[in-house]
Amino acid sequence: MDRYNKITEKNPREIVLLKAFPCIWGKCSFCDYIDDNSNDEDEMNKLNEEVLKNITGELGVLEVINSGSCFEIPKGSLEIIKNIVAEKNIHTLWFESHWCYKNRLQEMKDFFGKNVKVKFKIGVETFDNEFRNGYLNKCAKFDSYEEVRKYFESPCLMVGIKGQTREMIKRDIEIVENYFERGTVNVFVNNTTDVKRDDELVKWYCDTYRYLDENPNIEVLYNNTDFGVGD
Ligand code: SF4
Repeated sequence: MDRYNKITEKNPREIVLLKAFPCIWGKCSFCDYIDDNSNDEDEMNKLNEEVLKNITGELGVLEVINSGSCFEIPKGSLEIIKNIVAEKNIHTLWFESHWCYKNRLQEMKDFFGKNVKVKFKIGVETFDNEFRNGYLNKCAKFDSYEEVRKYFESPCLMVGIKGQTREMIKRDIEIVENYFERGTVNVFVNNTTDVKRDDELVKWYCDTYRYLDENPNIEVLYNNTDFGVGD
């Protein structure tokens, strides 16, 4: 599996996919990537150290992802990141976190100190509360994007799922375009779960929102591996 990449187009940055403890929630109906989770801390730290050795710091920005939230990354690996950030003059660090850790984000910022901006992505999938927490079983219980914006800089959306509607997608994109610093749109690709892709909806999305490819603040992933990490 590729765990390191350098993204040179939009939002230039280095990105690493680390191994981490099991996702605290682990029950989203569309998710099968938690298979990458582990409980073997030594083995995770060893692998993560190898991955992190690739970082050059040349872009000043590092994104660290794992199949879950950054709070599940082993402490030893976080220490390595902290050293690299200082040594390689990285000024901005992006992590991902589930909504349930929203009150701990400051803890992560404090850990890395004042010299680096720590920013957070969140897997919102959709701002439609029923679809998100009902069908997708996301357990991200907020009522409005305003609440999310208080904590997170960048929501990740999912589009093209059977059961999702054009109206939901229109509203989600409108929110991300207008009210957040950054955003990611993941076009849903069938995986081992029962959640299925709606090809007609995907076609409509691509026809309607192709212009987002040119938006410097929104990244659209047509395949899960478009960031060059994962398998
Ligand atoms: S929170 Fe993320 S990693 Fe955890 S089950 Fe849901 S989608 Fe998967």
